[in-house]
Amino acid sequence: MEKVIGIDLGTTNSCVAVVEGDTPSVVPNRGGYKTTPSMIAVTEAEKRLVGHIAKRQAITNAENTVYASKRLIGRKWQSPPVMAAKESAPYKVSEGPHDDVRIELRGKLYSIPEISAMILQEMKIVAEDYLGELAEKAVVTVPAYFNDNQRQATRDAGLIAGLEVIRIINEPTAAALAYGFGKKIDRLVAIYDLGGGTFDISILEIGSNEVFKVISTAGDTFLGGEDFDTRIMDWLVQGFMDDHGVDLRQDKMALQRLKDAAEKAKIELSGQNEVEINLPFIISVGQNEALHLQRSLRRESFEELCVDLISRTVDICAATLRESGLDKGEIEDVILVGGMTRVPAVQKAVSEFFGREPCKGVHPDEVVALGAAIQAVALVDEGSEMLLLDVTPHTLGIMIVGGYFEELIPQNSTVPTERSKIFTTVRDNQTAVKILVLQGESERAEENELLGEFVLTGLRKAPKGQIEVEVTFEINADGIVSVSAKDLETGLKQSINVTASSGLTPDEIKDMVEDSKDYLVDRRSTEEFDTARQDAEKIIRELDRMFSKVEEMVTGSEFGQEALAKAKDLIERSHKAIEARDLQMVLESIEILKRTQKMFKGVLARS
Ligand code: AMP
Repeated sequence: MEKVIGIDLGTTNSCVAVVEGDTPSVVPNRGGYKTTPSMIAVTEAEKRLVGHIAKRQAITNAENTVYASKRLIGRKWQSPPVMAAKESAPYKVSEGPHDDVRIELRGKLYSIPEISAMILQEMKIVAEDYLGELAEKAVVTVPAYFNDNQRQATRDAGLIAGLEVIRIINEPTAAALAYGFGKKIDRLVAIYDLGGGTFDISILEIGSNEVFKVISTAGDTFLGGEDFDTRIMDWLVQGFMDDHGVDLRQDKMALQRLKDAAEKAKIELSGQNEVEINLPFIISVGQNEALHLQRSLRRESFEELCVDLISRTVDICAATLRESGLDKGEIEDVILVGGMTRVPAVQKAVSEFFGREPCKGVHPDEVVALGAAIQAVALVDEGSEMLLLDVTPHTLGIMIVGGYFEELIPQNSTVPTERSKIFTTVRDNQTAVKILVLQGESERAEENELLGEFVLTGLRKAPKGQIEVEVTFEINADGIVSVSAKDLETGLKQSINVTASSGLTPDEIKDMVEDSKDYLVDRRSTEEFDTARQDAEKIIRELDRMFSKVEEMVTGSEFGQEALAKAKDLIERSHKAIEARDLQMVLESIEILKRTQKMFKGVLARS
């Protein structure tokens, strides 16, 4: 069977998994870590860094290091999350050409799908290094509450990264797949997923017949660990202001250090009651006077700072249970997903709300990628019986007269699904109707997300209200929405596949795919060269160690002297090849170096 992978593209961390035999497992990156920070950076030498290496240099290169870009993906320029990032992110957020968002790094503008693509490409490479072959097909997860534009932008990111995204699935649903996989149980479960940037709650029925049916889902795509970190940061900034009258927000490097320290403190408070936050030389004022930040934070104080954030998640849980017509007591298992569920106050709030302890033995950072890999295999394995029935997280409908939103497919409808409604003309002699396809929960059309539009023309001229047009919405298993409008009198029909917009045009995507391929070729050849260089240098070091002994052994032997001179010359040429970054020459010299090494060993063995 072809190799397929599952990728959890997280706000803070990403994770990739594969299924081998019947066993799903997370693939560690080269550093041995099972998750990779979703961070990218561009260095002064215009080199791209991704993951841990980007995170490590974030403080010294804050303006060119991007984190939490998932909060911006598929968003319109004027949306609140984008405006918030524009105000507070150390990197420069600017308006794109299609009402979208771009980030400027070292003078070059990058779209958000491009940034996400860099992370996806890194995860692809991690999987390929492990599998020893190319992995071109992937299931990628998104927060359940992502709208279609955000999903499309994630799909485009996959494309740019050189991946065929065989399906986008919801993070909590993926977690349920991993939880129920192979267990042969019938259970009603709640997945509480609080990650770095988003919150989701999903209620699912897991069937022993391998049917996973989502009953309802809800969430907030702008509520996660980042907000908890910001609370600690704000508290630190305010405290510093009170003590020194200096605003740390003015200094990008200080801000990045504060962010790191805030997250670290939050994580440490999951295991201890009090933490010390020490940031020496945080800023200098006046005649180079260095100021230091030193504060301690108790767990109760942290919980107070964030109490409303946790309450918001609980309120959403209550709302989705109400929506699904279920009682808390009916939920048989509560599963915690996302790094933020390690916060004791979060665990307590969830246990209290559901009236039961969450399940143990589920790894909150890995379970989503595992579920994605399981789904990926099920999609390519013809013998698989697994069936995933998800729901649409947002209501779909059209704009009607007066700027109102008329619902066609309500939120939490199981997909695939199809619904129709009949509308009539609103003006006398109206010969065309414009269909605006929208997604959202507001009764005002303009407050919802526009997914697409089209016009049905050729209607017979008639008094208003006489011509009937049937509008049909269809969502297939891939979540693709198609909409048609039919003139019931003539049978004339117009339809579109609603391709939500990631904010990029097909031409832009094509260019980005090419750029990303070039990067991969560059990176692969750099890696190949680095491996060859390391091999050559290792042998040279060993030859250097043996040299004086061999020299002693061959004094008086003309043949031996000649061989030694050749070896010296060879080492010199190898150094030059390394300096010139000439891969072919380095590879060739490795072969001769190896022979020389063998010869030296032979001479020494005879001593
Ligand atoms: P995820 O998106 O699932 O990778 O979750 C990442 C979020 O979880 C980040 O905000 C992390 O700071 C947070 N996190 C990870 N581990 C812990 C921990 N032990 N305690 C508190 N928060 C954590």
